[in-house]
Amino acid sequence: MNNFAYSRAHTVTDAIEQLNSHGHSQFIAGGTNVIDLLKYFITSADALVDINPIEEYHSIEEMEDGGIRIGALVTNADTAYHPLVEQRYPLLAKAILAGASPQIRNMATNGGNLLQRTRCYYFYDTNAPCNKREPGSGCSAIDGYNRIMAILGTSEQCIAVFPSDMCVALAALDAQVNVSGPYSDHTIPLVDFHRLPGDTPHLDNNLQPGEIITSIDLPGQGFSRNYSYLKLRDRNSYAFALVSVATGLELEGDVIRDARIALGGVAHKPWRVPEAEEFLRGKTASRENFGAAADIILRGATGFMHNNFKIELAKRAIIRNGMMALHPETQLPGAQPSL
Ligand SMILES: Cc1cc2nc3c(=O)[nH]c(=O)nc-3n(C[C@H](O)[C@H](O)[C@H](O)COP(=O)(O)OP(=O)(O)OC[C@H]3O[C@@H](n4cnc5c(N)ncnc54)[C@H](O)[C@@H]3O)c2cc1C
Ligand code: SF4
Repeated sequence: MNNFAYSRAHTVTDAIEQLNSHGHSQFIAGGTNVIDLLKYFITSADALVDINPIEEYHSIEEMEDGGIRIGALVTNADTAYHPLVEQRYPLLAKAILAGASPQIRNMATNGGNLLQRTRCYYFYDTNAPCNKREPGSGCSAIDGYNRIMAILGTSEQCIAVFPSDMCVALAALDAQVNVSGPYSDHTIPLVDFHRLPGDTPHLDNNLQPGEIITSIDLPGQGFSRNYSYLKLRDRNSYAFALVSVATGLELEGDVIRDARIALGGVAHKPWRVPEAEEFLRGKTASRENFGAAADIILRGATGFMHNNFKIELAKRAIIRNGMMALHPETQLPGAQPSL
């Protein structure tokens, strides 16, 4: 591992200044991703700026508009078990608890979860060409072993998926990401935070150099009555999603008044198609209607041989999760069905 300087920041201003005062530096929060990337020489840093001492972003608070603000430095575990999240945003709690392991969730922070890198095998293999790690070198996954790769929003440069569970629920819940930077503070809707690979696959998201995520806002509507998060994977725990679905429904009897569906494991960002949600409004909550919505969501989906199965799997997952959302009380916290 290369040597790097280590410093601690106590305020956001201090963190931004420290980050920009070193040639090539990165923030460290829980360290569960950045340290691996440094150890395996996937990324490098002359300095790590530890942002954990910034106290104001370690809490979850109610906002006047009825929503909540979740600090970027709150751990994934403390977020999932916070009473406001458990009661009002159980979809988020369930998605977080479907990810990683208890030990990792105890360290991993919310800001770091948004910025975790892909799990593409070739990205982690420094002997393999990879446009994301080394722009212009090629993509080993397109003609390689691509079982875990994307079926939507891919490019000729990269077919990697963004691996987060938490962000799939955040996309469904219309979360907003609050950011501070050297020049301004601003907010980015979660659905616009991550990028498609296009011809710049080395850029995962729209955070600008020197910026820090401070918090995540959730609006008042939490879909706490009818929700479900379904994660399908090769192993029933401690594995990333082949396909995941976050569904939130607002029902009047068996008629859908509002619907949110976001997919994980299928694209370079959490995948949401507003047209499918519009289609469901005013319709009966049935397998047929969730199937028709799935067809809209998966329009244009393309496999790369080893991952062709994901297209049918995603359709079945959307239907099954829609039906599971009708009876969330039957789902145990963190429990996930096997394939
Ligand atoms: C074995 C293993 C299994 C996993 N399984 C899953 C899974 O199933 N589902 C899932 O969703 N995740 C999974 N993860 C990923 C895990 O959730 C992430 O590693 C974690 O959320 C990253 O958070 P962190 O605080 O540790 O980030 P760090 O590693 O500290 O940082 C990650 C990146 O974010 C930057 N950063 C951190 N905080 C901020 C901030 N506030 N502002 C700006 N930049 C910041 C850092 O500079 C770095 O580039 C797994 C991880 C491991 C190691
Ligand atoms: S899919 Fe993306 S991350 Fe994977 S090898 Fe290709 S360019 Fe690299």
